[in-house]
Parts: sequence; C-alpha cells; structure tokens
Amino acid sequence: MLSSLLQSAAITEPLMGEAATKLAADIAGATGWQPYVTSFVASQGILFFLARRGTDKRLCLLWKTVETPDVLADFCGERFGARVDGEEVECQAGYLDHTNALGLRKHFAFLRPRVFGVRAAFGAGDRLGLATPAHVRAVRGTGLSPFFAQQSIREMTRTGRTPDQVMDSATFGVFQEGWREGFGADADHLKTKEDIDATAAAGFTMFTIDPGDHVDNEAATADLETLRAKFDALPWKELDATPGLIGNVYADPVRLPDDSVVSFDEATLLRAAVKYGRALAHTSAMYRHLKSVMASRPFELEMSVDETATPTSTAEHVFVASELRRLGVEWVSLAPRFIGEFEKGVDYIGDLSEFEKAFAKHVAVAQHFGPYKISIHSGSDKFSIYPIAARLAGDLVHLKTAGTSYLEALRAIAKIDPPLFREILGFAIARYPTDRASYHVSADPAKVPTPKTLSGEQLAGVLDQFDGREVLHVTFGSVLTAEAGGRPRFKDRVMRALESNEEVHYETVRAHIEKHMRPFAH
Ligand code: ZN
Repeated sequence: MLSSLLQSAAITEPLMGEAATKLAADIAGATGWQPYVTSFVASQGILFFLARRGTDKRLCLLWKTVETPDVLADFCGERFGARVDGEEVECQAGYLDHTNALGLRKHFAFLRPRVFGVRAAFGAGDRLGLATPAHVRAVRGTGLSPFFAQQSIREMTRTGRTPDQVMDSATFGVFQEGWREGFGADADHLKTKEDIDATAAAGFTMFTIDPGDHVDNEAATADLETLRAKFDALPWKELDATPGLIGNVYADPVRLPDDSVVSFDEATLLRAAVKYGRALAHTSAMYRHLKSVMASRPFELEMSVDETATPTSTAEHVFVASELRRLGVEWVSLAPRFIGEFEKGVDYIGDLSEFEKAFAKHVAVAQHFGPYKISIHSGSDKFSIYPIAARLAGDLVHLKTAGTSYLEALRAIAKIDPPLFREILGFAIARYPTDRASYHVSADPAKVPTPKTLSGEQLAGVLDQFDGREVLHVTFGSVLTAEAGGRPRFKDRVMRALESNEEVHYETVRAHIEKHMRPFAH
C-alpha cells in the first residue's frame, strides 16, 4: 500500500476503506502520530496527511529514505526516521503554520480558493478557525458551492485574526476532511482599498464591497426640494454622468422577466439616485482598484448594502444594477437590505408573505440585469425564509452565515466544560449593553437566564432562547479577546476544550449548518 503510494507522481485519489485504516494504524504505531484518514493524499513521491497526538495537530509528510524530494523545500517541521508497512521512511511533522499552508496550496489545486460564478452558494464563516471540518461535512452532497473562508474585516479585528490566518485555517480544515470539490474565499464587508489589498494578498477570491457608509438614508423621507439639491450635489465626475444623462436613462420604464414594469417618476429616480449615488461611485472605485490588484487572477465581486437603515425597494435595486452596469462593474452577487428584520443568529422577524413578494422582485431584477445572485447576509438561523428563497432564486442565491458556528461551538462547550460556559454566559450578559451598539439586535439581557439559576443540563438551552442567543452572538469579540492577569481569559480554554473534543464540536456544528443547507440542496 505505502510503497505504491510513494511511487505515485500524480495526485492520488482519496484513500478509503480498510486499507486506509490499516495504513493509519501502521503510521500511528511507528510514529506516535495518529493520521486523519480522510486527509491522506500522495503526490511526487510523498504521502501527505494531517495527524494528531493529544491536541497537538501537525502536517505530516512521509517519503522513502533513499531520496529527498525537492517538494520538501516548501514545507517545514521536525524530521525523524521510521519503519512503516515494511518500508524505511523519513517523516516530517510540522505545525499548522503559514509556511505549511502555503506549501499545501502550492501543491494541491483543490486547496486553492476558486471562483464559482452564478451558482447557489453557501458562506460558512468560522470565527474560531476550527469549524471548517464541520462545514465540509455539512456541505457534502448538497450541490452547494461552499465558501469555507469568509470573514469581514470587522470580525477579523474583533477576533484578533489576520486574512492569512483565516485562509490558513480553512486550508487545513479542507485538507483534513479531504474535500476535493473546491471552495471559495469571501473577503466580506470591505470598506477601503487597504481592505482589498490585505485580503487579495492572502488569496481571497471573492470580494464583498460594502459601500454602506456612503448610502444616504435620509433620501427615504426627504422632500422633493431636498432631493433635487442632493441630486445636483452627487459626485457626477466619479459617476461618469450628468444629471441630464441620468434623467434620460430612466425615462423609459424597465420591464422585468416576471412581466412587471418599474417606472421612474421624478421622486422615485431622485430618491434612488440620492440614496445610492455615492455608494455606487465608491463601489465603482473599489472595483477598479480590485481589478488592478488582482491583475490576471480570477475574482468575483459582490456589492452589499444589507447593513443600512432602510430596505432596498425594487426601483432602487433596478437603479443600482443598471448603474453598476453603466459604470462597467462586473459583479456576481448583490445583497440588498431586505424588508423585515435580519437580526443576528435568530429567525427572520417580519411578515413572510411581504418578504416573499419583495424577494421575488429582487430575483426578477437579478435575472434582468445579470443573472447574478441575491446575497442573504446575516443568513444564520433564518429558517422560515429558506424555503421561499430556495424556491424563488434557484441558483441565484448566496446565503452567508458566520456567528451561528461560534454559537454552536459554545453549545459544544456547554456539553464539554459546563463551568467555562457559565463563566462566558455571565461575562456576555454584562458585556451586551456595550457590544450591541454595532449590531442589529433587540435582545433584552434581563431575559437571559443567569448562569447560577441553571443546572448543567439546562445550560445549552440558553442557545435556543432568543435573548440568550443574541447576547452570546454579539459578544463574541469581547469573549475571545478578554484578558485576565495579562492572559486570555476565555479563548485558550475555549480552543483547548474544542480541540480535545473535536468530534463533539464538529458534529454539533455540522448538524446545525446542515439545517441551513437542506432547503437549498439540489
Ligand atoms: Zn453583511
């Protein structure tokens, strides 16, 4: 078995069945490192795999002693000799660090993030950097295009992680589970050119431009006179247009694929232009910068205005799409601000039939001007809208989740280390009034059961309660960066608990993410 693997120059198929299990047992016996069977892959005379010893996890390479393959220059680790399956071999066990992640991405195309184009997609943000194996398990067999690396600059700042770390965690997670079908990497909510530079350098392939700070929410209620003045003051040079030109472009109504007609009277046009004009100029500038940074590397762009105060009407969506096109921006998805409330980590709040009507219009606009995908941000736990979105959008949907995997990691903590969960819960209740400021949430911390009133079995139930879920959701940054006596107060213990009980963590997250994906599977 081993001998034939080490003779393979091309990348081998995933190993399965008894032979793989036996090889893993042989390696564990000879080296003390227990391989993840799903990670085995041989190429250029080397067997690559992830392995663990306690909570210590390493990237291992194994090759025949007689030769020293050139490939080794791209990896680092400690070397030692061993006898495995009757062969004298050399082994190298290296940390899951940036050098080894880069080496893996260099030698295995399936570990390099890719673009997917207009295909139903699922974004699985991972704030702890431990959840990708669970996300891989959830996506298998669904037909969805997965984005295993997905993080906003805000999340990275709050968790003290860098774009490289986000990318590397996803790489190792994908490698561990042996996922060969490709994945995307979404640099979410980028606001500046520096954000683009940092995430492009780390190898991200999807760039979600968030021009929300440039959206004029007063347009929704301003009178005609104010709108006219604001319209005249738009950055016309950057929009490559004049007020007159815009008037002409929207003089004729737009007929959508559902046969409905969107027409722009003066107030409708001015409102749309005033609300989104500066955001469009910013997105266009970001797009041009991105294009020059990426040069010949393939990439895809999303424009997101989900984190703004007022819903995006059908006419406003038409205006935005039509203007993006006029400005020469190419985009794969767009995240409108939907009607109703998309609070973090809890179900949709609002009228479902109103949502359905508005969502159908957004899809019609996306078909007309694209097709491109309608992106659903804060998509975690919105179980009541998934069947609607899946039925109406087909492939034209990208669902993004992030915090929910952190919450389910906490559910695992409640099972593994109840005292730690109690401590985190108490801390989160105290932090919530401060941390809620930058989030769209409505939880009342007084309604969250205090830790001392709960029995061990009741702890995880806090995660099924509206207020508890939101309180734990928005405090993730504080929890992960809190210090006590100059050391992390929770993070190390959280990581250790999850790392030493991997299967509890993976299965808890997998089960929850699967519920999100099921309605969209095809
Ligand atoms: Zn968002």
